[in-house]
Amino acid sequence: MWKVMMPRKIVYGANAASEFQYPENSLVITTTTPDIYEKWLSYMGLKKYEIYDKITPDPAIETIEEIKRKYEGKQISAYIGLGGGSSMDVCKYLGKLTGIPKILIPTTFGTGAEMTTYAVVSFDHKKKLLQDEAFLADAAIVDPYFLPGTPFNIMRNSACDALAQASEGYDSKLGNPFTKLFCKEAFEILEDAIMNDKQDLLPYGAMLSGIGFGNSSTTLGHALSYVFSNEGVPHGYSLSSCTTVAHKFNKSIYYERFKKVCQKLKFEQLTLKQSLDEAADVIMPDRGHLDNNPIEVTKQDIVHCLDEIVNKNPLQ
Ligand SMILES: [Zn+2]
Repeated sequence: MWKVMMPRKIVYGANAASEFQYPENSLVITTTTPDIYEKWLSYMGLKKYEIYDKITPDPAIETIEEIKRKYEGKQISAYIGLGGGSSMDVCKYLGKLTGIPKILIPTTFGTGAEMTTYAVVSFDHKKKLLQDEAFLADAAIVDPYFLPGTPFNIMRNSACDALAQASEGYDSKLGNPFTKLFCKEAFEILEDAIMNDKQDLLPYGAMLSGIGFGNSSTTLGHALSYVFSNEGVPHGYSLSSCTTVAHKFNKSIYYERFKKVCQKLKFEQLTLKQSLDEAADVIMPDRGHLDNNPIEVTKQDIVHCLDEIVNKNPLQ
């Protein structure tokens, strides 16, 4: 048996965010600055609302609790997470704490966070990946309006993340016919968007990827990537080499195609400050990713994969 979960309402397409009927007295939570979000809010036609714009990447539990206290007694009718993954993660956790409905609107497309039961929150300065059915959005609004103006680097990292999630999600042991359908379609749309410069397809591909991997899991590629993220490499960037090498190890049907897309996006080789052995010791306890990998992975395999990533250029 298997089950799938997705937001109660999904609204997609041009004008999705401007035509949506937002409840009055919503609290908008965003990572951006007034010069940007004021334009967005007027496009959305939002009238009576509160705004909290002090969200930083990898939001801390203390920030979430502070927002909860600040708006207690203000009869907030809904949270609107507007921006990157962090603003949506804050909304998800707040919604779980208070039971107030959440509307998630991604503006940097890639994580598919608006579709999933996952949230990343920092406790004692350590990022933690949490999963809870209560994190699901009451409405997810995906509108390509927010795409133009995204810097190339953010666009390429997000696209690579979405592509890695779709293909790792397809191969995951937790996959089922439903998730495979979504992951496969997501991969094809994202690949077409990047290879044929059809950027406006990225939000749709990322959204399908979110539904697919969000109901299965990511695997070895993501497990390998975190040692690079810990040394400051952006998530999507580190996946370019990590997921390529993982796909080769897993003999994934997506190996060649994933690599081609990364070549087109001109990702460069990764470096690692710590030794491969130390890094492998950090990766091995990540059972959430490794146990769902289609093939069993030993520490030796991890060292071998890391060696390919940093000492041979896997994207060549
Ligand atoms: Zn990812």
